[in-house]
Amino acid sequence: MAEISFSDWQKKLVFVAQQTKQAMDKNRPFVRCGCQKKLWMQNAYKCLYCGEWYCKECAEIHFGKTVAEYRAQHPVAVLTET
Ligand SMILES: [Zn+2]
Ligand SMILES: [Zn+2]
Repeated sequence: MAEISFSDWQKKLVFVAQQTKQAMDKNRPFVRCGCQKKLWMQNAYKCLYCGEWYCKECAEIHFGKTVAEYRAQHPVAVLTET
């Protein structure tokens, strides 16, 4: 993961806190990705490391690999998927 500055981390923490608040909403739980796309929770991907939620496209960039690339590298994962 690329180095990010302290102020960037602070911005990210605020952003992730906003997302968490949206996700906890009982009536309309959703998160807004950093790209402004609005995501229902079942379409959102949470980063294990920084806690931020992403849409599929941004998750692929953030996690450093597309789903297609992962499956090509891990063929067994395709077989065990339901
Ligand atoms: Zn992350
Ligand atoms: Zn996005």
